[in-house]
Amino acid sequence: LLRPRTFPQNGSFLPGKNTLAQLKETGSAFEVEHECLGKCQGLFAPQFYLAPDDPCIQCLECYGMFSPQTFVMHSHRSPDKRTCHWGFESAKWHCYLHINQKYLGTSEERELKHLLEEMKEKFSEK
Ligand SMILES: [Zn+2]
Ligand SMILES: [Zn+2]
Repeated sequence: LLRPRTFPQNGSFLPGKNTLAQLKETGSAFEVEHECLGKCQGLFAPQFYLAPDDPCIQCLECYGMFSPQTFVMHSHRSPDKRTCHWGFESAKWHCYLHINQKYLGTSEERELKHLLEEMKEKFSEK
């Protein structure tokens, strides 16, 4: 039995999904992932990251929007004991968030890593 892909009942997620889908087409958003407390992949839209708590990462699985700090705590998989770190602190999200592995070894890798580093430093205290 084939069923259409289900989306969250909360319709407010859908505009965000559409917006990010459009951003992705223009090339301004890029995919990120973390492997903390279970793995999760998302789409990072730098344009939406205007304050430390701004939801700017969309989970590719549930289309929920998260700030970087809440995204590293978000997962649909149970924690893998081999990769789970003792002393996990979501405040250190910049240590856990990486560009999607699919970019590794491509011409985009350097540029996207640089962009992500800029986002990580955007609101960090110096
Ligand atoms: Zn971890
Ligand atoms: Zn999700």
